[in-house]
Amino acid sequence: MRNVDAYYGQSHILRDLSLSVEEGEICALLGRNGAGKTTTLRTISGATPPEVRGGSISFDGSDITSMPAEDVSVRGISLVPEERRIFPNLTVAENLHLAEVVNNKSNTWRRNVQFKHSGASTEQIYDDFPRLEERKGQKAGTLSGGEQQMLAIARALKQNTDLLLLDEPYEGLAPKIIENVESAVQRIREAGTTILLVEQNAAAAIKIADSAYVIDQGQIVFDGTAEELRADDETRERYLGV
Ligand code: ATP
Repeated sequence: MRNVDAYYGQSHILRDLSLSVEEGEICALLGRNGAGKTTTLRTISGATPPEVRGGSISFDGSDITSMPAEDVSVRGISLVPEERRIFPNLTVAENLHLAEVVNNKSNTWRRNVQFKHSGASTEQIYDDFPRLEERKGQKAGTLSGGEQQMLAIARALKQNTDLLLLDEPYEGLAPKIIENVESAVQRIREAGTTILLVEQNAAAAIKIADSAYVIDQGQIVFDGTAEELRADDETRERYLGV
């Protein structure tokens, strides 16, 4: 994202925002409530986006500024929104199957686009998330919060995902469950998918991230390695309250 200015109506939400995520890394975008984290992901993904009035967004060499969500998605960017979009009355296996059907359908009209990572098979998903295999016959609505988060991530991986956008995957999860989601995210990165991780839980995000940005009132106020942010007490106290 280069010098992006984005608005919801008259409200200027993202201000001259520049950030870049390198291929193969986990990049953390951190900040307080209302700082503009979700808006940043919406601006990239085209899902209920604000209006971009300045700057540009590119992905893997193509300009994707203000591109409709389905066009962004076929380029290999998958978003797991905060509200964890799963079908509560379907089983785990049915949720995964449905994601696969949708992916195959959209594959028929994306022939021109080259992918580095094609959608994961159900076997691969169960290897990465053994808990989901154990519970494959269970209705998704009865899974624990952490299991639902894993299912939401697994559904996103059913698409061809070169860049995974995760919006607060740790929200509402107990520390022990956060560890499970954390290791799943690390395995996904090891398999070659790049990750932009948005979190309020800065400590947990910094632990697995390579690089980090801190956003405050729609502006980037810190940009560096996760290591540098860990050592920067002033930034953490001032903008993250930790
Ligand atoms: P949280 O951690 O609470 O989810 P956030 O950092 O993700 O916060 P955003 O959801 O990006 O914050 O919101 C940034 C600002 O944009 C907030 O002031 C919010 O009220 C405003 N905003 C978000 N969506 C809209 C919208 N559709 N219309 C108008 N203002 C909006």
